[in-house]
Amino acid sequence: MAQILAPSTQWQMRITKSSANASPVSSKTWSSLLFKKNKKGASTSSSKFRVLAIKSENSTINRLENLLNLDITPYTDKIIAEYIWIGGTGIDVRSKSRTLSRPVKHPSELPKWNYDGSSTGQAPGEDSEVILYPQAIFKDPFRGGNNILVICDSYTPAGEPIPTNKRHRAAQIFSNPKVVAEVPWFGIEQEYTLLQTNVQWPLGWPVGGYPGPQGPYYCAAGADKSFGRDISDAHYKACLYAGINISGTNGEVMPGQWEFQVGPSVGIDAGDHIWCARYILERITEQAGVVLSLDPKPIQGDWNGAGCHSNYSTKSMREDGGYEVIKKAILNLSLRHKDHISAYGEGNERRLTGKHETADINTFSWGVANRGCSIRVGRDTEAKGKGYLEDRRPASNMDPYVVTSLLAETTILWEPTLEAEALAAQKLALKV
Ligand code: ADP
Ligand code: MN
Ligand code: MN
Ligand code: MN
Repeated sequence: MAQILAPSTQWQMRITKSSANASPVSSKTWSSLLFKKNKKGASTSSSKFRVLAIKSENSTINRLENLLNLDITPYTDKIIAEYIWIGGTGIDVRSKSRTLSRPVKHPSELPKWNYDGSSTGQAPGEDSEVILYPQAIFKDPFRGGNNILVICDSYTPAGEPIPTNKRHRAAQIFSNPKVVAEVPWFGIEQEYTLLQTNVQWPLGWPVGGYPGPQGPYYCAAGADKSFGRDISDAHYKACLYAGINISGTNGEVMPGQWEFQVGPSVGIDAGDHIWCARYILERITEQAGVVLSLDPKPIQGDWNGAGCHSNYSTKSMREDGGYEVIKKAILNLSLRHKDHISAYGEGNERRLTGKHETADINTFSWGVANRGCSIRVGRDTEAKGKGYLEDRRPASNMDPYVVTSLLAETTILWEPTLEAEALAAQKLALKV
């Protein structure tokens, strides 16, 4: 405990002085330094520290920050791994940390772990152990150094994926040789809403009232139009640091709402990256004292909902003649509209009303450059005769493992009957 109480700046100064040419400091030198310090200050520093912490004086905050920012790499090979998994609601992210003996580069180097599933709504109390399988690694932007974030999925002790493990099935689809050959790309636009704590009302909105109507807020700047930019920007940099394939951000139509995009990412990576980006956003909003909401329609009325548009292409769609492949994919999607809607997020019926740049939940539609359609094809794709499609139906709280793998399944693996295909082609004015 005593070494934690020592102001880290002093230690760093001492080390530079006493070991200018000897880096990293050997553990022997380090413990002798600790020992000296302990002899001097151990008896008083503990109570002193606590008093300052309770008073929350600036100096205490600084000292905590110093410790949080402490770079442990010169002193130990050990690293901290934050194991992250999806909880029982299918949308909550949980995590806990453990020490590993040395830095790792690949998830296969990591041990499996477990958690108490009865505390996450994922297992009965009498048989509560759930096993975590490490699947993807990112750099930890909060702890820095060689420390890592680990995206995991959940299994029973017998090795069966638990019901909320949607990654397992997705990974199967993405390893199907037909899907692998098509190198499916995904670009996910994750929209989210920032809420003031306690009141659960959007950031920047007057408590108990509403801001002026939508119009000036989308991609805006200014204290009366943009609320929460620091969070969006901190998240952007943290994601880049972590190794997430984040491709951009923007302020949204509803004030207090933001978007970030991840992609294009191949196959299962899209899901891993979105989940890790969501986790980082939860941590940043936690630090900022702001609540993250992924509700598809956080505010009823004339306010935009929050979606997770999923841009998608296969190798054949990106090559010459790709537009024909895109139209065939749209045809397949139209025939499985209900299956997709039921997999695209809870409460999406409050968002997909046909207003606010959405298509009605019960009707499948597609169009070029039309934001009121289920599926939009960009002008660029039409002009070039190849490219990608945008599925505008997924809600902000969708599971990217489910959405991406279902898109691949419906468009690469699934085949409609000839009659169904002919009928749908006629209805949608799609000649394939
Ligand atoms: P919008 O114009 O709908 O707001 P965005 O620019 O927010 O679109 O997001 C588009 C996403 O699509 C980005 O993440 C981008 O990387 C991705 N994307 C671009 N080309 C492709 C492609 N060929 N296949 C899949 N995704 C793509
Ligand atoms: Mn967008
Ligand atoms: Mn958007
Ligand atoms: Mn979009």
